[in-house]
Amino acid sequence: MKAKNYPKQLKELRAEMTKVNEAIMGNLNDFFRISNQIGEVKDKMGLAHFDPVRESQMLKEIHQKNKGPMPNDLMKRIFKEIFRASVEEMDVGTRSRLKVKRLPNAKDLVIRVNGIEIGGEKPILMAGPCAVEDFDQIYITAKGLKELGIDILRGGAFKPRTSPYSFQGLEEKGLKMLRTVADEFNMAIISEVLDTRNVSLVAKYADIIQVGARNMFNYSLLKELGKIRKPVMIKRGLMATIDEFILAAEYVYIGGNHEIILCERGIRTFETQTRNTLDITSIPILKNETPLPIIVDISHSLGRKDIIKPVAHAALTAGADGLMFESHHNPLAALSDSEQQLDLGEVQELIEYLNEYFQFSTVN
Ligand code: PEP
Ligand code: MN
Repeated sequence: MKAKNYPKQLKELRAEMTKVNEAIMGNLNDFFRISNQIGEVKDKMGLAHFDPVRESQMLKEIHQKNKGPMPNDLMKRIFKEIFRASVEEMDVGTRSRLKVKRLPNAKDLVIRVNGIEIGGEKPILMAGPCAVEDFDQIYITAKGLKELGIDILRGGAFKPRTSPYSFQGLEEKGLKMLRTVADEFNMAIISEVLDTRNVSLVAKYADIIQVGARNMFNYSLLKELGKIRKPVMIKRGLMATIDEFILAAEYVYIGGNHEIILCERGIRTFETQTRNTLDITSIPILKNETPLPIIVDISHSLGRKDIIKPVAHAALTAGADGLMFESHHNPLAALSDSEQQLDLGEVQELIEYLNEYFQFSTVN
């Protein structure tokens, strides 16, 4: 094709524009270099990245100094966009400086509990009743689960209930029952701590301490858990963004406890068919952004058990390091969450189904 023969003037103007483009690019790079440094200083001082007062001051200065020919409102629009992008970049910078951030080529964090590797090659299963109710209940359920290859026993002794009139848990009595049963069947225990006053009590009996969804934003509790030397599993808050979830883990990490597991358990949306909406996308995002093991709670995500198989499959396919689900030897008699707890036959069915696709890690 024949090259177009543009008039000399257009060629010159274009060449001039290319030079200006390069100058703008250089200036923008200077701008972002400085704004990223401001972001770092602000992070150290604990200040917010976006400062509306400073922004309007800068826009006023620009307005006063603009000699045209670009009209002021257009100039303002462009600068506003640059400021917005710089705040976004500051946020990216902050995230990249987090201690729980995955470094390039970093290995996954593997947490070892009672001979079980969480975050290792094979996924794991954690199961047990919503709450410890009495010795027979936890004994029969744990025995059945162990026979099905489950090595981590869950059970709440401190229960975060919506109604103060609902069963609140057996507290230390429940923890003792869990310990006795877990020792008999060589299982590890995961149990929830509700507040700072009970951290050492729960840590005395449990092998993994659970922070429930309602407490993901409880920074005093997270700080306290940073001081202990037992793995902590943090559940995603009901209304928490993925970034807020990661920051909750950062609290525990900088407190000195690096053994952190993240648990996706669904978030609140307008959907009513499930108890929460399981955010499958958080699994690969959290895996990319942190080296921490990710467990998916398929019981509290759903609040129902008829669709548990495909959802469990999806969670593991998305990269989860394991699943948590609730199981009770007699769900109809359960004191909490009876509609979502699997009986032992249902657990067997679920495991048989999953075994066709996945190999789980077991102790013996
Ligand atoms: C639980 O796992 O016992 C529980 C109460 O779940 P969540 O905190 O996710 O609601
Ligand atoms: Mn429950």
